[in-house]
Amino acid sequence: MTLPTDLKPSTIAAQAGGAIDSPSGGVVPPMQLSTTFVRDEDYALVNPDNIYLRDNSDIVRIAENVLARLENAEEALLFPSGMAAIAALFRTLPNGATILVQSGIYWGTTKWLRDFSARRQISLHEVDAADAGVLEQACVTHTPDLVFIETPSNPWLKSVDIVHAAKCAHAAGGVLAVDSTAATPILQKPLELGADIVMHSATKAINGHSDVLAGVLATSAPAARIWTDIKADRHDAGAVIGPFEAWLLLRGMRTLPLRMERMCRSTQTIAEYLSTHPKVAEVYYPGLETHPGHATAASQMQGGFGCLFSFLVKGGAAEALAAVGKLRLFHRATSLGGVESLVEHRHTIEPHTGIPESLIRVSVGIEDAGDLIADLTQALG
Ligand code: PLP
Repeated sequence: MTLPTDLKPSTIAAQAGGAIDSPSGGVVPPMQLSTTFVRDEDYALVNPDNIYLRDNSDIVRIAENVLARLENAEEALLFPSGMAAIAALFRTLPNGATILVQSGIYWGTTKWLRDFSARRQISLHEVDAADAGVLEQACVTHTPDLVFIETPSNPWLKSVDIVHAAKCAHAAGGVLAVDSTAATPILQKPLELGADIVMHSATKAINGHSDVLAGVLATSAPAARIWTDIKADRHDAGAVIGPFEAWLLLRGMRTLPLRMERMCRSTQTIAEYLSTHPKVAEVYYPGLETHPGHATAASQMQGGFGCLFSFLVKGGAAEALAAVGKLRLFHRATSLGGVESLVEHRHTIEPHTGIPESLIRVSVGIEDAGDLIADLTQALG
């Protein structure tokens, strides 16, 4: 079924972009597990779209169509994880290229980029892109081929002005890619703000049920060289998502706008509560007016500020770990964006990356906000 083009995200998501199974008429599209597809007596493909599963999966295409529509992109490509999507993007660069990457972002990205850049003689410059002046100067000085930002960032929740970052990257002759994982396509649309490529770890809120690993890249310029190179790399190097994961993702996405609405509302309430709590030194959430990135986030996010926030407990590691240990509802686990709330003491996981020992990172789920606040209250003592 072809849906009208002017629908709102909740309609596109709920109806999986109009995917109806033909010929059964099922309102849920089937999952075809076959790795290969037949040809007829004249050796013509029975379905010209499908040769071999690596790049030819109906359910993957359906999920990509929903993602492209939610992001207002021309094209979206799924990958087996967020990191696989990031790797496919950076693998398009020639040896000796120059890249500018936001500092203090998801540690997995930073670590992989440092190793990758060293192997490929790539000049990597890590800068505080949330500081517009710093980003602008770095673009002038280094003339990067690719600028990579993450907004809101994980775990500091810094906001980068996407319009400004795109202008700086383009003036230097480079491309802007935005990791928009913490915002989801519902709250922020970087392509509309001038970014060339948007990336998500779909493992997080896009899937939302902590049971699928997936990544996505999307663009408004599918004819651009970087995009055709990414597509070729995915096909040739084989970093593809499986049909079952794509099927689960499509199912999860049906409720993405609904989940984000609830999660944003609860996160705002909890962040506001904690910012007045006597045992809390600082709360990092772009939805708080006191947050340095609030104005930027408010100008480029719609419908809320996401489900991720961090806070500093007064004291140090002992006080933070004691609070985390007493929580009954928040699961002590890494990741974010699922329907169940998660809490993480990131210093324990990444002791040498400058994360304060008193920092607690929280992903708010869809539970009752009052229950979550009561849990935090008893845990903080
Ligand atoms: N980008 C951000 C902001 C993340 O938080 C993560 C994972 O936590 C990733 C990328 C990597 O995604 P994945 O775990 O799906 O490979």
